[in-house]
Amino acid sequence: MLKDKDILDEKCKILHQVSEEVTFPMSETDKKMIDDMIEHLTLSQIPEKSEELNLRPGMGMAAVQVGILKRYFVVVYEYEDQKFENYILVNPKIVSESNEMIYVEEGEGCLSVNRPTEGIVPRHARITMEGFDQEGNPVRYRVREDLAVAFQHEYDHLNGIMFTDKIDPKNPFKDKDKYRAI
Ligand code: ZN
Repeated sequence: MLKDKDILDEKCKILHQVSEEVTFPMSETDKKMIDDMIEHLTLSQIPEKSEELNLRPGMGMAAVQVGILKRYFVVVYEYEDQKFENYILVNPKIVSESNEMIYVEEGEGCLSVNRPTEGIVPRHARITMEGFDQEGNPVRYRVREDLAVAFQHEYDHLNGIMFTDKIDPKNPFKDKDKYRAI
């Protein structure tokens, strides 16, 4: 089981590096890591469990956040109260994106960023992403709103980009009116 301390902080250089394509079949180690990431994110979003295990709530995690420079991530999405849908994306590509841009009004968070942050991170309101699951089967997801934000946030990790890199430090709320708050 993953612990919060297994998740690297933004100060680690590896988080700012570009991850490498995965070759199939995926190693058992990587498959186990995907299971562990899903377990961690699920427990972290169940209030009693997150408290008991002292986990910071999070809905997404990229392999690089646990020190693995490979192009995969998982998102555990609470689509209804305490009901979760798991998304596993290996070697993902964004194949289409809306012109409409949104941002998370309360600000984005990241399990690798352990400090208060503020500012607007513009994201596409809708995207379609293609990739593979852990067995190498092709997958295609059309996602919107908060789920689309999560996919874009995790996808950025694969390219060494943190959400904080997208905030202008001199003017964190720049161009606010150009985007829709969610
Ligand atoms: Zn993150």
